[in-house]
Amino acid sequence: MELNELTITQAAEGLRKKKFSSVELTKACLARINERNKDINAFITVADESAMEEAKKADEMIAKGEGRMLTGIPFAVKDAICTADVRSTGAAKILDNYLPPYDATVIKKIREQGGVLLGKNNCDTFGHGASNENSMYGPVKNPHDLTKVAGGSSGGSAAAVADNMCIYAIAEDTGGSIRYPASFCGVVGLRPSYGRNSRYGVMPMASSLDTVGPITKTVADTALVMEVVAGRDERDATTVSDNIPKYSEEITKLGNKEIQKLRIGVPREYFDVAGMNSEVRAITEEAIKRFKSLGGKIEEVSLPHTKYAIAAYYIIVPSEDSSNLARLDGIRYGVRAEAGSLYDVYARSRAWGFPEEVKRRILIGTYALSAGYYDAYYKKAARVRTLIKQDFDQVFDKVDVLISPTSPFPPFGMGEKAADPLAMYLTDVLVGPAAVAGIPALSVPAGKTAAGLPVGVQIMGPRLSEALVMSVGHQLSFY
Ligand code: GLN
Repeated sequence: MELNELTITQAAEGLRKKKFSSVELTKACLARINERNKDINAFITVADESAMEEAKKADEMIAKGEGRMLTGIPFAVKDAICTADVRSTGAAKILDNYLPPYDATVIKKIREQGGVLLGKNNCDTFGHGASNENSMYGPVKNPHDLTKVAGGSSGGSAAAVADNMCIYAIAEDTGGSIRYPASFCGVVGLRPSYGRNSRYGVMPMASSLDTVGPITKTVADTALVMEVVAGRDERDATTVSDNIPKYSEEITKLGNKEIQKLRIGVPREYFDVAGMNSEVRAITEEAIKRFKSLGGKIEEVSLPHTKYAIAAYYIIVPSEDSSNLARLDGIRYGVRAEAGSLYDVYARSRAWGFPEEVKRRILIGTYALSAGYYDAYYKKAARVRTLIKQDFDQVFDKVDVLISPTSPFPPFGMGEKAADPLAMYLTDVLVGPAAVAGIPALSVPAGKTAAGLPVGVQIMGPRLSEALVMSVGHQLSFY
């Protein structure tokens, strides 16, 4: 096994036992990036020089006995998350030259442990998309089949982990952007509960939905990263101060006896969607059967407002987007276009610096928030959101977790949906509801189609039930 193929658990052990150094591990990842990035396009910026310096420092920390869980382990970060002195574009030309003066809180926590930042992952611009074809730096290709999309919006992060260019990645999920590409690339992705991890330093998309989480090779690795990054941050008022469970220990506690007590809900509406692929259905049903054979109680449940989730999401998100993106005007932030008047500076900078999908969201959102339309659109969508949340609350009185496919279909072809925004929005049908409700959801690889394309299964749980959701996902990954 090459060093870059290791999981966090394996790499940390190797470093601790001095089987190899962080410099060697980092070199192996950089060599893989060098070899593969031209085909996959998973990185916008590779920070090779600073990564090597960080690796040397990490080796010194380990030599002095100061090593912690993530010390010396090379990771990558979605480009919509700020990293101090490493270019952070959000995959938008308007931020082509942006060097943040600070780290996002989650990144700061990892770097304080001596994590090695390899570079910044390509994504749909500011997270707007489901296929990673909305990046102004070109699309990301699926490492399992270069003619297919990697999924989005964190396609670069999922592809980089799947292709062993990094050991793990940190990404952002507003409405599926961690889980969807994780499922398309055959890796693990956790969207934590809203408020579990700080979003300070994450380029905001829809502030009432944005979350930050890991993309990893195993669920055990997800647990390890969550232990480091989760928790209250005074710079993000939405973060909660509940104690952070020792996730890596919690997930090993789900033994046979506990599985027999586990009530697993299968939401009817999640299998009854247009275009549900038969192989995806079969692989998900197989995963459900495994729990049944272990003694878990499987119960069909209903979340009747699921069908309105995408409609509500695509009002709420553009509305919040249109407000958040106003700061990118070429004056406060961003590349400035030359023009005679202030208005023209704004107009030209934004026209040049944003891709079509971002402009579409700004237009829809501005419309939905404008006088006379606010009540008809934004307010109504907010009410629907409450109904969706109540569906989940009621169902979680009856069952402990929910299981469904992450995507109704396996990775689709490059260009297949790119020209049809509505078709792209509808791909979020199974990942959108959990986001709207603010609950945790995990995508775990569950099998492959006959053509060799990965299929992910999604586990959803009540708010702040990350430990349970990961425990169930961890069980699934034994098969
Ligand atoms: N497909 C969703 C969207 O385009 C995903 C967004 C996200 O999670 N960043 O809005």
